[in-house]
Amino acid sequence: MSEIPAYLQRGYITPGELFSIIPKPSEDRLRKRPVAVPECPQEIPCAPCREICPTGAINMPTPNDLPIVDYDKCIGCSLCVQICPGLAFFMVHYVGDKARITMPHELLPVPEKGEEVVLLNRVGEPVGKGKVITVVPREKSKGDTPIIVVEVPIELAWDVRAVRVERRG
Ligand code: SF4
Ligand code: SF4
Repeated sequence: MSEIPAYLQRGYITPGELFSIIPKPSEDRLRKRPVAVPECPQEIPCAPCREICPTGAINMPTPNDLPIVDYDKCIGCSLCVQICPGLAFFMVHYVGDKARITMPHELLPVPEKGEEVVLLNRVGEPVGKGKVITVVPREKSKGDTPIIVVEVPIELAWDVRAVRVERRG
């Protein structure tokens, strides 16, 4: 019987583990425009990301295969982030000394454009503050979850995968 990988046992994946399974986009590509990166390391029968992609950028010969993105074909439309029922697709774009992360936001409240939010890593720990620059509300999303774009310090680009809204008063 094959051993269950550590990331499946613990419930989250580290960047090092992720990029041992899929290629990491080059720095040039990350600066060009947003690029979609799936964090979907389990072979499950699921393929809405592949079906919705308008450029055929998501390689997945059968629904049981892992999604692998052809970063050159990805136009950064965010449809895969919107449709993924597992909240497993993200987009990353390097802009100067910041990174813009496109992510699903399942919790309430939904942040507003321009709002400062607490940045959370994959474990749910706070790692800093960032600014929301785009909100796609649930009713405009192709899936059931709003998506947001958050600007974070570039060194946190591969750690921040959620945010917490903190409003006073
Ligand atoms: S962002 Fe758009 S083009 Fe890129 S992989 Fe996702 S659906 Fe395809
Ligand atoms: S839609 Fe999401 S959960 Fe399903 S295969 Fe694609 S990335 Fe994985």
